Amino acid sequence: MAFLRTGLRARAIYTALRNNVACMSSVPQPIVNPEIKYNKVFINNDFVNSQSGKTFPTINPATGEVICEVAEGDQKDVDIAVKAAQDAFRLGSPWRRMDASERGYLLNKLADLIERDRVYITSLETLDNGKPYHVAWNADLNLVIKCYRYYAGWADKNEGKTVPVAGDFFAYTRHEPVGVCGQIIPWNFPLLMQAWKLGPALATGNVVVMKVAEQTPLTALYIAHLAREAGFPPGVINIIPGYGPTAGGAIANHMGVDKLAFTGSTEVGHLVAQAAAQSNLKRVTLELGGKSPNIVLADADMAQAVEMSHFALYFNQGQCCCAGSRTFVEEKVYDEFVERSAERAKKRTVGNPFDASNEQGPQVDKEQMEKIMSYIKSGKDQGAKLVAGGDRVGEKGYFIEPTVFADVKDEMKIAEEEIFGPVQSILKFKSMDELIERCHKTIYGLAAAVHTKDLEKALHISNSVRAGTVWVNCFDVFDAGMPFGGYKMSGNGRELGEYGLEAYTEVKSVVIKVPQKNS
Ligand code: NAD
Ligand code: MG
Repeated sequence: MAFLRTGLRARAIYTALRNNVACMSSVPQPIVNPEIKYNKVFINNDFVNSQSGKTFPTINPATGEVICEVAEGDQKDVDIAVKAAQDAFRLGSPWRRMDASERGYLLNKLADLIERDRVYITSLETLDNGKPYHVAWNADLNLVIKCYRYYAGWADKNEGKTVPVAGDFFAYTRHEPVGVCGQIIPWNFPLLMQAWKLGPALATGNVVVMKVAEQTPLTALYIAHLAREAGFPPGVINIIPGYGPTAGGAIANHMGVDKLAFTGSTEVGHLVAQAAAQSNLKRVTLELGGKSPNIVLADADMAQAVEMSHFALYFNQGQCCCAGSRTFVEEKVYDEFVERSAERAKKRTVGNPFDASNEQGPQVDKEQMEKIMSYIKSGKDQGAKLVAGGDRVGEKGYFIEPTVFADVKDEMKIAEEEIFGPVQSILKFKSMDELIERCHKTIYGLAAAVHTKDLEKALHISNSVRAGTVWVNCFDVFDAGMPFGGYKMSGNGRELGEYGLEAYTEVKSVVIKVPQKNS
């Protein structure tokens, strides 16, 4: 029996991840206690103490214990990093003189080195973030490596145009780098968010000052070490561990930063956009929160819809900006869907993220855990029906039971706000018109999904919802070539794909007088 259950679980994980994962069979053993090799500020290809000498602890969320102290960068360190980046970007510098194809070679080399050290890097990500090792190996690392290789390919292909302007002129556009890119990333996919930001910035010849999340600084610093080994010149990549209002704020306000890319909460999105506007009008792209509708129509394959909706919410401990956090189910199949979803949630395995039998690890920190528990309380208080979970798991670490609420109403807090945790809210709908209107009752517009066998309905919903990504009969299918970003308050601009190059490129128009010879 136990064997059968394990088999079914493995199959379920496989089903959920297969779109992102080339091969599930060969996940090597993790390093359960990975050595911490880099914990300082990375500027000019050197690891250095912060100017203040201050440090902060990074925590293992599975135990609540301190992993190590990390140098705490702030304004002074950002100033030095921006100066280093400006020097690396100066005309005639090795980076500016480097062939575009060579930049592509360096990005591919970085991907090679990540592959070489994949076990160590994945183990470190699991230790610092809490995500299950086997999931990180298959999902995160696969996408990280592909992202660097994808943008390596673009390095010498981001071409301008010639334009047939009026008169005797030769006119063309050049795609030039923007300059110093400030990049602020969150803790939910530390390696992947770093790759989404570094890949297009470096392919197009920019230089970077990146602030990594205070909860998960370790893997980004190891990648910095690998970038140095790959051969990126000093000052091209600078990484500042530190806190948001200090180090992050210094980047957003900096007069020497030409472009800001931010991923995180909508609340902080407002702050960094204001800082950009009030300082030097630096270009801003934002990838913020979501409250994405995941729609199940009555004709959907029920087993698959239950499993996909489960994956849509619980993947990465529910800590996904695009989580399918409003599960809309057609009235006719609502009761069956709720029952089967509750059953599935109760079977979800939660525990030590280094143990391959666990689907779910801890939340990233105590603050997030407490915030999620307060949302669970508000669901109960506002009259939603708790059909699975609802409690913390154990006393040690920040684990939460996979939780399912039925009878959720649009105006409940759990249907309106981003919970960022393993809490599924299932709502009932009757008609298609009512559904679309309710989908739009949110400040967000990041993603949506629909599960149905009816192609016409799938297309109708896909065309109608205001969301940057729509998945049909699938969820969380990511590819470096496919753009990602939000409508409305889910953000500005797109990352990934060819569209993702635009944020890192200035277009220059050059017009040359062509003398006409009298024949
Ligand atoms: P956050 O927005 O505070 O943090 C994201 C990044 O921004 C971190 O690097 C942080 O240090 C930095 N930051 C924070 N304040 C800043 C400031 N004033 N100026 C510049 N940078 C600043 O997110 P959080 O507090 O870690 O999480 C809170 C909520 O945000 C979550 O519960 C979730 O709803 C949402 N969130 C969304 C994403 C996403 O991918 N869209 C990621 C993480 C968190
Ligand atoms: Mg940590």
